[in-house]
Amino acid sequence: MALTPAPAWKERPRRTTFLSFSPPAISEAEIEAVVDTLRSDWITTGPKTKRFETEFSGYIGAKAALALNSCTAGLHVALATCGIGPGDEVITTPMTFCASANVIEHVGARPVLVDVEPDTLTIDPQRVAEHITPRTKAILPVHYAGHPADMRPIMELAHEHKLYVIEDAAHSLPATYEGQNVGTIGDFTAFSFYATKNLTTAEGGMLTGSPDMMDRARVISLHGMNRDAWKRYTAEGSWYYEVVEPGFKYNMTDIQAAIGLVQLGRLEAMQARRREIVAQYNAAFSAIDALQTPTERPNVESAHHLYVLRLNLDRLKINRSAFIEQLKERQIGSSVHFIPVHLHPYYRDKYGFKPEDLPVAYAEYQRLVSLPLHPGLEDEEVLDVIAAVSEICEEYRL
Ligand SMILES: *Cc1c(COP(=O)(O)O)cnc(C)c1O
Repeated sequence: MALTPAPAWKERPRRTTFLSFSPPAISEAEIEAVVDTLRSDWITTGPKTKRFETEFSGYIGAKAALALNSCTAGLHVALATCGIGPGDEVITTPMTFCASANVIEHVGARPVLVDVEPDTLTIDPQRVAEHITPRTKAILPVHYAGHPADMRPIMELAHEHKLYVIEDAAHSLPATYEGQNVGTIGDFTAFSFYATKNLTTAEGGMLTGSPDMMDRARVISLHGMNRDAWKRYTAEGSWYYEVVEPGFKYNMTDIQAAIGLVQLGRLEAMQARRREIVAQYNAAFSAIDALQTPTERPNVESAHHLYVLRLNLDRLKINRSAFIEQLKERQIGSSVHFIPVHLHPYYRDKYGFKPEDLPVAYAEYQRLVSLPLHPGLEDEEVLDVIAAVSEICEEYRL
């Protein structure tokens, strides 16, 4: 009988240094851009922020863009711009970072959590339909891990019931849904430039939407002042402004925009590297029956922000926590995205949630592990991750 050769990972020595989950991809160009900005006359919101808005909206094909200090700020401003407040309901997903629900609380509205689709872990349009009431004002889908939510039925529901659609696109730069860029679909789309995201400005965000809505969003995002405050100190500016409502202080700085402009120029290359790594992971892990690899539906292009592996726990002697410990022992960083919103004490206690109230989110949560996925990951490091995961699956196979 011919012996099948041992898989390559078996001969790999274990790592001696820790592989961190998601370090930022900052090059010398970003560092120089920051230094140049610090040496210039503008360090806070100014010409570079304007240019970043223009280049970003040009890249996405959005009609207008507003640079902010976070995605959370973008979602908050969007809700406020739509006039959503006490007595209103906003339908969103439990499979997200807490910020998506927190902002709904910030405006005094009620987040209505509906369960996700098992393949993509994005909000289930069928369940959205079942939860629309006369109080519903908006739907807030999250493009989980970079994979767009099923936007066609969501937009149809919104149209039929006159609801706003505010997309949390923290993970989905750049992504497409049925050929359309994320950022050009709903009323508002909020992107994140947090340190771990596909494009970073350390902290930062961008809101896209229609020009008239964005004009109001811009006022709300900067103290409720009714003209471009950053122009006040330039030759073309004037000292005069009026406060038309008590707005927020959410502006982006030119230091951040300088980083963002360089990152935007690098984005295509960074995305190409993400896709290579995803293909390598998929090829290795789809052969292991203890693992389920991520789905990419044929009508989307994912931004591949996260590589979320799912453990087939009935094929393993260990649970997810032990799996993560085993990865750590092999010097591989990992994470879990996300602890579903309804399990957090604030939401659990305020709305009386039991874990099983959102059965798909709860069941899937218990078997999720996010592996390192970032453009700086080298081939040898990808092989280390593959070796560690494969070895754990073999050692603890049931
Ligand atoms: C990161 C993240 C946010 C928040 O982004 P910030 O820019 O840090 O405010 C919101 N939603 C999701 C799904 C995220 O992952």
